[in-house]
Amino acid sequence: MAHDVHVPLGDRAYDVRIGTGLVARAGAEIADLLPRPRAWIVTEETVARLHLGTLRAGLSAAGIEAGALILPPGEPTKGWPHLIETVEWLLAEKVERRDLVIAFGGGVIGDLVGFACAILRRGVRFVQVPTTLLAQVDSSVGGKTGINTTHGKNLVGAFHQPVRVLADIDVLGTLGERDFLAGYGEVAKYGLLGDAAFFAWLEANGRALARGDAALRAEAIRRSVQMKADIVVRDETEQGDRALLNLGHTFGHALEAATGYSDRLLHGEGVAIGCALAFELSSRLGLCPQEEPSRVRAHLAAMGMKRDLADIPGDLPDADGLLALMAQDKKVVGGQLRFILARGIGEAFVTGDVPAEAVRLVLSDALRGR
Ligand code: NAD
Repeated sequence: MAHDVHVPLGDRAYDVRIGTGLVARAGAEIADLLPRPRAWIVTEETVARLHLGTLRAGLSAAGIEAGALILPPGEPTKGWPHLIETVEWLLAEKVERRDLVIAFGGGVIGDLVGFACAILRRGVRFVQVPTTLLAQVDSSVGGKTGINTTHGKNLVGAFHQPVRVLADIDVLGTLGERDFLAGYGEVAKYGLLGDAAFFAWLEANGRALARGDAALRAEAIRRSVQMKADIVVRDETEQGDRALLNLGHTFGHALEAATGYSDRLLHGEGVAIGCALAFELSSRLGLCPQEEPSRVRAHLAAMGMKRDLADIPGDLPDADGLLALMAQDKKVVGGQLRFILARGIGEAFVTGDVPAEAVRLVLSDALRGR
């Protein structure tokens, strides 16, 4: 059983297929896209060990021959050296513009391989086969690709849409609980930013889906992808509305930077804490009812997720230090910090009009709670 979410972007339109068994029948799922019965897989060691055999069997069942490049796992892979390695491998393999590259992994592989495909021969087609919850609900959809540099995360990249996305619920079964819940941070974000009914649905069903209920997982992914697709179609290159997807990210990125992009705080964990702080700030500014920040934190707590600065192990900079890290975010426009705030759960909006003093106060109070 698979649900499709269509992303209607004109001549760059594509489908996101969500369901079980998609990797096992990958060949049948992508055969219509192939100019010749060959494909090129780029993946990483952990995913390769667990799932590459299934993908290869799924392709060969449809008569598709596939070579694979297997990179190391982890965020450091998303940089210049492995970008060069990927591009050079695809060139050595004589991949042509109409051929199909398969990005098989989490957000790290999706972002890196998408970018390699964007610059190779000025644009080679690629399919995303995301293997983490975060990648299924967020990074594989919408066409943002790129790498990190010594100056920061995601600073070099391109918009390059995939030609199909296969989000297979089965592969999530091997994901560690912490990585699953980090991805759930992005799922909760969708409810918080634009769909109060979805957030209420998550309050009712979140724990069961975290425990492994495949139908609930598929439904949560479908609703998240549909929301992302709707926003991306309105604003593909982030001139306006797409910034809503950054709810929790201005705080989250500062916390990620403060913890050195390490195991101390995963991206989705930073987003979840960031969402709680964004609602706290909205409430302090009188924009949203006072109970909303507590409701956000209560749901994160019920899921067993990090929700406060106190949940981050080790030292953190003081409020001014965190503010300085926020000012380095690439969402800064003309020196002005842009925030995503909310009038309530499901009602986020973008604003450049936030007094730094209010942010400093929220941060110093949150730090005092540690
Ligand atoms: P990731 O790709 O590093 O995967 C997280 C961990 O899970 C890794 O250790 C990986 O080896 C492991 N893993 C992957 N699939 C697995 C599976 N099925 N079973 C067991 N283990 C598995 O990280 P991520 O959280 O998927 O993505 C984070 C990246 O995504 C960041 O670089 C972030 O910047 C990027 N991102 C991009 C966008 C976008 O729009 N392009 C959006 C959000 C995040």
